Amino acid sequence: MMQQYLMLKAQAAGSLLFYRMGDFFELFFEDAKQAAAILDIALTTRGEHGGEPVPMCGVPVHSAESYLARLIRAGKRVAIAEQVETPEEAKRRGGSKALVKRDIVRFVTAGTLTEEALLNPRAANRLVAICEVRDRIGIASCDVSTGAMLLEECAVDGLATALARLDASEIVCPEGFAGEAARDAIERPTAEFDSTEGERRLKSLHGLATLDGLGNFTRAMLGAAGGLVAYLDHAGRGKLPLLLPPEIRTSDGGLAMDAATRASLEILVAQDGGRAGSLVACIDRCASGAGARLLAEDLAAPLTERRAIEDRLACVAHFQRDPLLRSDLRALLRGLPDIGRALGRIVAERGSPRDLGQIRDGLREAARIRELLEGSADRPALLDRAMERLSGQDELIDLLARALIASPPTERGSGGYVADGYDADLDELRGIAGNARKAIAAMEARYREETDTASLKIKHNNVLGYFIEVPAKHADKLMAADSGFTHRQTMAGAVRFNSVRLHEEATRIAEAGAQALACEERHFEELVAAVGDRREALAALAGALARIDVAAGLAERAVEGDWCRPEMTDEPVLDITGGRHPVVEEALARSGERFVANDCCLEADDRLWLIGGPNMGGKSTFLRQNALIVLLAQAGCFVPATSARIGIADRLFSRVGAADNLARGRSTFMVEMVETAAILTQATERSFVILDEVGRGTSTYDGMALAWAVVEAVHETLKSRCLFATHYHELSRLADTCDALSLHHVRAQEWKGELVLLHELAGGAADKSYGLAVARLAGVPPAVVKRAKAVLAKLEKGRDETGGLAAGLGELPLFAAASAAIEDAPPADGLAERLADLEIDALSPREALDLLYEWKREA
Ligand code: ADP
Repeated sequence: MMQQYLMLKAQAAGSLLFYRMGDFFELFFEDAKQAAAILDIALTTRGEHGGEPVPMCGVPVHSAESYLARLIRAGKRVAIAEQVETPEEAKRRGGSKALVKRDIVRFVTAGTLTEEALLNPRAANRLVAICEVRDRIGIASCDVSTGAMLLEECAVDGLATALARLDASEIVCPEGFAGEAARDAIERPTAEFDSTEGERRLKSLHGLATLDGLGNFTRAMLGAAGGLVAYLDHAGRGKLPLLLPPEIRTSDGGLAMDAATRASLEILVAQDGGRAGSLVACIDRCASGAGARLLAEDLAAPLTERRAIEDRLACVAHFQRDPLLRSDLRALLRGLPDIGRALGRIVAERGSPRDLGQIRDGLREAARIRELLEGSADRPALLDRAMERLSGQDELIDLLARALIASPPTERGSGGYVADGYDADLDELRGIAGNARKAIAAMEARYREETDTASLKIKHNNVLGYFIEVPAKHADKLMAADSGFTHRQTMAGAVRFNSVRLHEEATRIAEAGAQALACEERHFEELVAAVGDRREALAALAGALARIDVAAGLAERAVEGDWCRPEMTDEPVLDITGGRHPVVEEALARSGERFVANDCCLEADDRLWLIGGPNMGGKSTFLRQNALIVLLAQAGCFVPATSARIGIADRLFSRVGAADNLARGRSTFMVEMVETAAILTQATERSFVILDEVGRGTSTYDGMALAWAVVEAVHETLKSRCLFATHYHELSRLADTCDALSLHHVRAQEWKGELVLLHELAGGAADKSYGLAVARLAGVPPAVVKRAKAVLAKLEKGRDETGGLAAGLGELPLFAAASAAIEDAPPADGLAERLADLEIDALSPREALDLLYEWKREA
């Protein structure tokens, strides 16, 4: 056995091996130690290997799913080794000592799950494959649970942003694919990412002679697609899950947001890593899991094309206008099974009768939804398109309705899920078994009479089958040689018998039962095939229902929060009145507080707002609410404002000063600067940028100088729309030189010595920093506050005398002029200067060598 185990374990390299032994999956050696720790189950030992006891732990097969779920969540992969023959077969093959053959039937990994119990119904589960072809990265992603597949391509430095959007559960890449962005990726043989092979597989999967009809696939995309399919093939041991024809995502479509922006806006997960407190949790009113998944996808990848955005908004508006339609629709949607995921399981050959039942019920529900929507006038185009996909499945509905009982079970081992009347042969077999059961009941009564033993019973168990049981004190009568009963077993207090007649009836039950089971199994396969044949139409139908659910849910949310339909434009403006932060507003409402709405109006000649004011005054909240409003609008949602006119942004950046953002590894200030650098190289005139206390992570002089330079660069060079929150008063001087910059502050008042934060935005620079008042509010002891006041008075006196921290900045030339001057300056070609500028520690040996060659050539 150990030999067999070790051989399988070698095949399962990188995964824990679940080794089937009877009713348990057992784990051994290091696997056992890891699993026992994660699952908090007992670690025992069994036998010896190399003179050492073998650590072991196990989980029961019937509850394996929940254990698998925990292992996957802990970042493990699991190989399932099943017994692929029965013990009887093994004996026939190799004698009484023969070992049952086992084989790995599947790898369970985070990105390849289809089981209902292992998946979050409201979140997509994505597997991503990446592959590089001549400086372009191909990205293939799919949600195995629904079969949706997406191909895209980006430049090498765009990978991190793309991966941030996809939020994959698992990433695979070719061996040796280096890169910070894909640090946790699983390496697979390079040959699997061959683009020609990828193309061939896609064609054969979808029965196509050419892929041209699906779009223009690049080599990199095809390579990634090949790697993705090969990995699925490996994980399913040759059984592929549902894969729909791939869609191409064009790299220029969509609002670009990098990982830092996503994290700081808490779009899908809040700062603490959970869904609660995130934007999606705050706006999700979807009635179905599939709707919630699509909403999360929309928020993760907002659009930039005005037509497409308007299409979605029109749908939301349609449902917002008609409360009755909306509530009827949502009631229907709430009863909707998850068609997409049931389909995913069925096509992956992991489907159950229940999944077929879900498809049937879902299709019926879809027909009802279509009927309901047909009754509503003035439907927007997107809704009409979605509705078209909801019909055409009558034949399948009819087939499933006739074939299945009302609520089919998840297990098909004991049959009983095919409806009576569907198949006459099956009905007959069931009749035989039923009659035999009745005959046995009658037999029991007769035997009681014949033997004059009222306590005689006919029972059934899995070892003996049917048998007659009497208490020991009555057994003598049945023991008599001519009684017609044969003795089978003596128990404490009871004796068990068989009889010829009982044996006959039992055999009839068993035979009819086995035949009925085989018959149901055949029907199951037929039904699975019938569903599989229509998989694309069914997936499209599930997608259409999700789209309708998203629109209805957003309308519900808009009504609930009194949100408005944003007006989308291609001009670089952002004009929001009465804007609110949906998550903060919701949190405040829970404690009975009111959110103060604020306006924001950025336009070409007033595109950068510098926002000052006390800590806790509401600066961050204001910045984020505007970014969220842009994001929501471009995702096709109504927005928390009384009115909003939004110039479509190409990129959205959100940065938070280091003190708020404790990232791993690098120093926080380093993180802040790396992120800021990304903005300064990527933002455009069409971008929207929020910068919150950038520069805070270092000393006052450094920080202020950096903040100053960044504001200038955004204003002069990038010309993006930007909100910049800062507590450096000195920056307000920038208003003198930057003509499209204006000053604003969050208002506060001191009232009877107490600080009152009004959370209200007003024009002009903040007059005071109120730092000391905030400190008092926070409970810093009065003596310390008093001392700080004295220090402050001294500092301010000094400042007034010398011109302060920013003294002399008045004469500084503007950024654009200054940087142009630097570029125009003659190159400093002295070797000594260049050496002095060189950061030797930052060079690789190779780079150093290259530099030497270069200088030598120039010399
Ligand atoms: P700052 O960035 O100026 O330090 P924050 O934006 O973090 O301030 O806001 C601090 C707190 O003030 C928030 O957690 C919230 O409870 C409250 N707050 C912020 N903005 C508003 C608002 N517009 N209306 C009501 N309360 C607000």
